[in-house]
Amino acid sequence: MAPKGFPELLKEHEDELVESLLHWSLSNGLIMYPPNYAKYQANNAPITLFPTPFPKKLYENAIEVQEVFNELYVNVISKEKEWLIAKIKELSEFDQSFTGELFNIYQKILSENGGKLKQELSLGLFRSDYMINSVDETIKQIEFNTISVSFGGLSSKVGKLHQYLNNSGYYDDKYSMKYYDNEHIPISNSINKLAKGINEANYYYNDQTHNTKTVILFIIQEGERNVFDQRHIEYSLIENHQLKSYRLSLEKVQEEVVINNDKLYIKQTMDEVSVVYYRSGYGPNDYTSSKCWESRYLLEKTLAIKCPSILTQLSGTKKIQQILTNEEILKKLLPKIDTKTYNQLLSTFVKIYPLDDSEEGKYAKKIIFEDSSKFVLKPQREGGGNNIYKEDIPKFLQKIDEKDWGAYILMELIHPPKYSNKIIRNDEIYNEDIISELGIFGSIIFNETTGEIKLNFESGHLLRSKFSSSNEGGVAAGFGCVDNIYLYE
Ligand code: ADP
Ligand code: MG
Repeated sequence: MAPKGFPELLKEHEDELVESLLHWSLSNGLIMYPPNYAKYQANNAPITLFPTPFPKKLYENAIEVQEVFNELYVNVISKEKEWLIAKIKELSEFDQSFTGELFNIYQKILSENGGKLKQELSLGLFRSDYMINSVDETIKQIEFNTISVSFGGLSSKVGKLHQYLNNSGYYDDKYSMKYYDNEHIPISNSINKLAKGINEANYYYNDQTHNTKTVILFIIQEGERNVFDQRHIEYSLIENHQLKSYRLSLEKVQEEVVINNDKLYIKQTMDEVSVVYYRSGYGPNDYTSSKCWESRYLLEKTLAIKCPSILTQLSGTKKIQQILTNEEILKKLLPKIDTKTYNQLLSTFVKIYPLDDSEEGKYAKKIIFEDSSKFVLKPQREGGGNNIYKEDIPKFLQKIDEKDWGAYILMELIHPPKYSNKIIRNDEIYNEDIISELGIFGSIIFNETTGEIKLNFESGHLLRSKFSSSNEGGVAAGFGCVDNIYLYE
């Protein structure tokens, strides 16, 4: 069946809807700080007026493969460690000041502790991102994120908002009825599920007891505009698990913590930290000085469980994603996988090429100069705004030394369907074609040395949308928005 069209509203009804949407957002923390903000002033987050259609079957596919993807990355980290490390060494050559620094810290903490990690348990809060490929109606993976995955907080909120607007009759122009069945616009439970992942890590830190005396340390960026997204997880931790949390930037860590017998404490209260949760530290800009690198090293060498550990973070680089699309490698990493699931995983991959001296790499170097319109070029960076698209790729490559091309991957462009939803940013409504990216969150607790998985669960969803005219869709960066799915069969 085709999805229902978007509600069509008279101007006065849309105005009412917008006012209710703004009130709900501000009342319930569906908000973000504007640029150059004062601490007491937040805006409604950029969101869509309506949920965007998404085929139910494809949403279910994405949910079904999440735990397998979690396991795949854990196997890369723990069971194919030497292979991963060899790859990271190669990447460090291209990117000494970031990947190289992270890898140095990893090596240093191992060598200082007889080749072992102080804390072998690791928490992964991951997000696998997809777009629908219109050509064959499949979901295709954009990337797999292993650090600082965001919008789990605001996603739950936007789902609740859309349900509220639907239940209150704002989507029905004539009769103030429900426009959608609520079960077709499911609310993501990502706030509580991500908090549950952190709570479980606290439990394992405390030898499988629910100790509410230990605390969670959020490592954050100074001046983070998307702070409320993180706060919702903190509120869930305290409300549902009686776990306190602290927030520190990498700049401030050294002044504010104490390490004693490898345990990490908050200096002022001497609260013991069970989990260090990084919502910063994923890109070079987060390390403004050598002090920040020193902080990262200090945190890494403690007994606190890291979310993520350095190897977990580095397993999420684009280069590893490219390698994992290789069928043989995939099979080796998931030896027990059944054929159906294996095929399901494979069906989410588009072609990703290396740009090195391998046969595939040589082929890619040739085709990109023949027709670049089908590709996006990605460097080893996270956080949006780094990719190079289509005809810009040959120009870009020509500007850099060919020996540095190996630091990039070349990915086939996915062509998602367009919808004419409406986006609200501040109080302006934009009515343009949008395209959407579905993210599925996943939580996993594992032993980085043995590969033993203690817990692995899918943790909710996120839909982000952007104007189809823009290449990138960073929400906090200003050109995308938080959306929710309207499932149809
Ligand atoms: P980042 O680590 O910066 O988030 P991504 O790989 O997620 O990098 O790319 C950023 C954005 O670029 C995505 O959110 C998506 O909008 C767009 N994009 C990335 N890869 C593709 C692709 N293969 N096809 C179409 N759009 C893509
Ligand atoms: Mg991304």
